[in-house]
Amino acid sequence: MKRTPAFYRGCLVGGAIGDALGWPVEFDSYETILAKYGSGGIRDLQPGDAGAAEITDDTQMTLFTAEGILRAESRGRQKGIAHSPSAVYYAYQRWLLTQGYPKYDGYAWAYKSWLLDVQELYARRAPGHSCLSALSSRTIGTAERPINDSKGCGGVMRAAPAGLFYPKEQAFDMAVKYAALTHGHPSGYLSAGALAYLVAAIIEGQSLEAAVAATLGVLPGYTGHEECTRCLQSAVRLAQQDRPDVEAIAELGEGWVGEEALGIAVYCALKHARDFRQALIAAVNHSGDSDSTGAITGNILGAALGYDRIPADWAAGVELQDVLLRVADDLLAYRLAGQLEPTRYPGD
Ligand SMILES: [Mg+2]
Repeated sequence: MKRTPAFYRGCLVGGAIGDALGWPVEFDSYETILAKYGSGGIRDLQPGDAGAAEITDDTQMTLFTAEGILRAESRGRQKGIAHSPSAVYYAYQRWLLTQGYPKYDGYAWAYKSWLLDVQELYARRAPGHSCLSALSSRTIGTAERPINDSKGCGGVMRAAPAGLFYPKEQAFDMAVKYAALTHGHPSGYLSAGALAYLVAAIIEGQSLEAAVAATLGVLPGYTGHEECTRCLQSAVRLAQQDRPDVEAIAELGEGWVGEEALGIAVYCALKHARDFRQALIAAVNHSGDSDSTGAITGNILGAALGYDRIPADWAAGVELQDVLLRVADDLLAYRLAGQLEPTRYPGD
């Protein structure tokens, strides 16, 4: 069992590092990355305007996922009933506010949050279209009543906290519900369920390889799983081969859609399972959605290796490290001992 600060912190800070490492090259082809950063590609965090390496919507929304989960638990404790997908929906409405959208009168009560006091979270760094349009429609999407047909990776990139918080079977179902708020295609929400399950299995003590195999074992129980299953199977197969990472990743896709982003991240984590730095470098140096594939790889390998095996210069150099550590510790404190700071997490 890995219910200790090292692995919770590793998962969230690891994800933020991957996000920040990939952000400068998110929209660059592999050739452009090499032209800009040399033949090894981008290999280190780049300082942003304020000094620290900048995180993007992937990490911002991950923080709001965690906040929504904890506020649901808080409400459950106060009122005896809570619906965690609703609480996460309102957390995402707070994220939407940070992205420059107006407050919605119907949700006036929901705009009180310590995260809204974190000025850095108001940076707008290429937020995903599906998230923005679904949330600004003020309609709650579900897998049963899909809000659109999007299978973008915006659902999976923010799902890791579900795996840190819930036991693995429940983590899958919860992450599906959180992702379906904005992504209506099965590959958009099942990829999120699969990531949460994978993270939970790792936290529950399974090896990375066993956790991936277990994830492949549960996916077929869900309608529309085929694309996710196929991509994960390919990731496992490619990780056992001795090919250049960029070639293997190109075979999996570009990561703009959920199943490909998950497949690329699982490939990078398996291939470089003992080397966080090398895994993250592989995860961002390709022609696809580098910050999201970096973020998900960092979530997985950070949970597997723990915070102490993340390069210290990277952990120190990423934006909002203090906020990420606090949220990781808050998730763990609740999981371990039912401790919850009601001023930080009022019941929704
Ligand atoms: Mg991003």
